[in-house]
Amino acid sequence: MSNHESRLDRCARAGRGWLEQDCALCGAGCGRELLCRSCADGLPSLPEHCPRCALPTPGGAACGACLSNPPHFETTIALWLYEFPCDRLVQALKYRAWLALAPFFARSLASRALPEVDIVLPMPLHPRRLAQRGFNQALEIARDLARRTGATLEPRGARRTRDTIPQTDLPYEERARNIRGAFASDLDLSGKAVAVVDDVMTTGATLNELAGVLKRAGAAGVHNLVIARSVLR
Ligand SMILES: [Zn+2]
Ligand SMILES: [Zn+2]
Repeated sequence: MSNHESRLDRCARAGRGWLEQDCALCGAGCGRELLCRSCADGLPSLPEHCPRCALPTPGGAACGACLSNPPHFETTIALWLYEFPCDRLVQALKYRAWLALAPFFARSLASRALPEVDIVLPMPLHPRRLAQRGFNQALEIARDLARRTGATLEPRGARRTRDTIPQTDLPYEERARNIRGAFASDLDLSGKAVAVVDDVMTTGATLNELAGVLKRAGAAGVHNLVIARSVLR
């Protein structure tokens, strides 16, 4: 594990991981790719899951929560489980500004069978958080994904109307209330299919709140495209 981390740190510091001739996780030669084939194939894949919220379920059936209380979004595509080493990659983009990961994530998403969408929209950050971090990791991924899919990027299609306590600081049962009323959108999305890009989905409360706002703005369908699904084991 320490080898992985020191290598990620080196690449992040150098800011040129993608130019290096070796894999960001294991150091094996991999040309211009970010990860070697073996590390890319070894990222923790999501088992069969609920098509709506990507929670693992037997046989990929709809989960009980989505059946009893359907969320505002239609589908969730998650690339991997939020486990080692995928969690390290997500954190390297978010907290260490390793921006070369964004096109890697976007390309990985584009290689999946994605729902047809008109608009790609990143999960917005509150302006204060954006000022601290200097970039929105979801926008970095969404921008590249829009280019690859031909959908229209709406970088400011939704905004945070208030700063909230980070969801990761709260127990699961308090997250929906924490995020309620935190988003707004001025777009007219009448009849549009919208993809929302985010890095990690845990309870889905934040994505659900945003999807509700987009539906009220007229969206015909909302589809979550996330890098990693966090699942309690
Ligand atoms: Zn590797
Ligand atoms: Zn579900």
